[in-house]
Amino acid sequence: MELFNTLSRKKEKFKALKEGTVTMYTCGPTVYNYAHIGNLRTFIFYDIVKRAFELDGYKVKQVMNITDVDDKTIKSAAERRMSLKEYTDIYTKYFMDDLEKLNVEKNIKFTKATENIDKMQLIIKKLLKTGYAYEADDGIYYKVSAFEAYGRLSGMTVDGKYSRIKGDEYDKESATDFALWKYWDAKDGEVYWDGELKKGRPGWHIECSAMAIKHLAKTIDVHCGGVDLMFPHHENEIAQSEAYTGEKFVNYWVHCEHLLVNNQKMSKSLGNFYTLKDLEGRGFDPLSFRLMVLDNNYRNRLDFTFDNLKKYEGLLKKIDLSMKSLEKTERYTEKDNELSKQQVNETVKRLIEEFKAAVNNDFNTHSALVAFFALLDLSDSRVEKGRIDSSEYKVLKGGIDKMQSFLGVYKDYEIPREITQMADEREKFRESKKFTEADILRDKIKENGYFIADLKKGYVIAKKYLES
Ligand SMILES: [Zn+2]
Repeated sequence: MELFNTLSRKKEKFKALKEGTVTMYTCGPTVYNYAHIGNLRTFIFYDIVKRAFELDGYKVKQVMNITDVDDKTIKSAAERRMSLKEYTDIYTKYFMDDLEKLNVEKNIKFTKATENIDKMQLIIKKLLKTGYAYEADDGIYYKVSAFEAYGRLSGMTVDGKYSRIKGDEYDKESATDFALWKYWDAKDGEVYWDGELKKGRPGWHIECSAMAIKHLAKTIDVHCGGVDLMFPHHENEIAQSEAYTGEKFVNYWVHCEHLLVNNQKMSKSLGNFYTLKDLEGRGFDPLSFRLMVLDNNYRNRLDFTFDNLKKYEGLLKKIDLSMKSLEKTERYTEKDNELSKQQVNETVKRLIEEFKAAVNNDFNTHSALVAFFALLDLSDSRVEKGRIDSSEYKVLKGGIDKMQSFLGVYKDYEIPREITQMADEREKFRESKKFTEADILRDKIKENGYFIADLKKGYVIAKKYLES
């Protein structure tokens, strides 16, 4: 496995701290609103990184934070006269729904900021004691000048002049001392913790350091995030964690690039700010977005357009039909034709190797998809004959399942009984050459959101996809 490490700015061969396992921390959502598709690109990318390590034989321990306390969540909850928990629970649920729809595997340790306050307080106390933090009127701050390696990840040059930042919205241009703990004030209402520190609440950056160390280890293998988090968030995570433990925090930093819409940055004022609900509202299958993300290298900006997304709906349709046709085609056992069987065997083997090599080459899912579609083409060409040799079926099915279980771009769905009944009836009409009646039923099925594709023998039903 080779991956591009932001820390060295080079593609490196991956070496796990502990053989056979990968510890992986992934920055999660702030649950004050719906996630936009730029965030979702990053969350799909995390899923790919994890599945890639699993495909390569590793056991992966992934932790993701849910930021359920910060300036934005407190403000939004107060505006709606809800408690912080009531409010953030709503958007946590929506976030989980989005992951489900996008086929993101849930074998992740999700942990909320508010469940880890004790660890944050412990870290802050030690940083105070060792001179990495200091107290001001309104809270406890991290002293950036005390951490010599500051700026190493992002390449930020630190000029030695530091101002102090109170809010969670940071100046992207300069290094600043940032809040570790914010003392309570009236606008925080009921939101505060005391105990080890004076009544208050944590800053945003300390959350990730505490959760990574508490739930994984002092030093972890991989830390992923969107490229916008590199500075100052990840830089601050390193400064806090390494000052606290005295050890290297992360071996491999992996960053996913931005998503643009029509080549512009997404923003509410431009009206190009989309959530998964918006895509679904326009009739798109969430997995078309997953497929789009996989087809574009994570280190490149992804330019999202609805026209482009239609192309991926078309590809979903191909996947759906190919898989169903293979399943539906009559199988038989052929004694001869060893040459043909051997050819199929070898081609599938080669495609699987190409697939794995692509994934192991810095998560090149675009090339992996090329191998996947080549395999589907091969399957289609065997199915076209109307029946398929059982051993060929097995080899093809095995290869497709293997690739698909990594890609996660297909989810089986139920077809309503009235649709399957209509399709059966239509088939009977066709058999008795009553084509007009058959066509009427075919159109009726279409009106109901499904369609029939005829095979040489028999047919398959699939749902309708949006296509360009
Ligand atoms: Zn983080």
